[in-house]
Parts: sequence; C-alpha cells; structure tokens
Amino acid sequence: MALKKEMGVIHSDTAAFPPLPCICCGKELESAMGDGANNQPYAGTVFHSYGHYGSTIFDPMDGSFIELNVCDDCLKERASLRRVAFKKVPRSHSVPYKYWDPETDD
Ligand SMILES: [Zn+2]
Repeated sequence: MALKKEMGVIHSDTAAFPPLPCICCGKELESAMGDGANNQPYAGTVFHSYGHYGSTIFDPMDGSFIELNVCDDCLKERASLRRVAFKKVPRSHSVPYKYWDPETDD
C-alpha cells in the first residue's frame, strides 16, 4: 500500500478518503457511509469546484477539482444570512428523451 504525505496528512492510494472537517468552523465530521466511502460526511454537505474564471488561485481547466465540506449548522446559519444561493434545475430523468439533431447541436 503506497502512502502519500500531502499537506501534513498521510493517506493511502487505496483507502477511502475520510470526511474533511467543516471549512467554516473546523468541526470534525463522521462518515455517513462507514469507512468505505470517500469524503461522505454525516450532517454535512460536500461542495466541489472545477475552478472558476474569476479565481486568482484555482482555475486549472484540466478536469481536476477541489472539494470541501460545510457542516449542517454552518450551512443553515450562512443561509439565514443570505450567503447561500439556490436554484432548482430539472433532474435529468424528468427531462424527456428526444432525438439528437446534429444540425442544431440540441
Ligand atoms: Zn461548521
């Protein structure tokens, strides 16, 4: 089993990555799926980004992404302060199939 040391944390290539602590308050989060799932926190939400055009530190445009967790308490508190945007989009299974038209790319 190969071990890597990155940012002071040692983990193996094959072991599941444990839940990250809350990025706001630092609370340690337990796994919602036992030890076999990668960063699957209980009472927290995972957010990931492939970068952002306006970022001055992360916009790799190579498919890599960063991931962070926010505990439910912090997310609820920040939402009450209007710091969380929300938008509902149709789930893919609710969008009807149709034949693809290469002329319109739609
Ligand atoms: Zn928190």
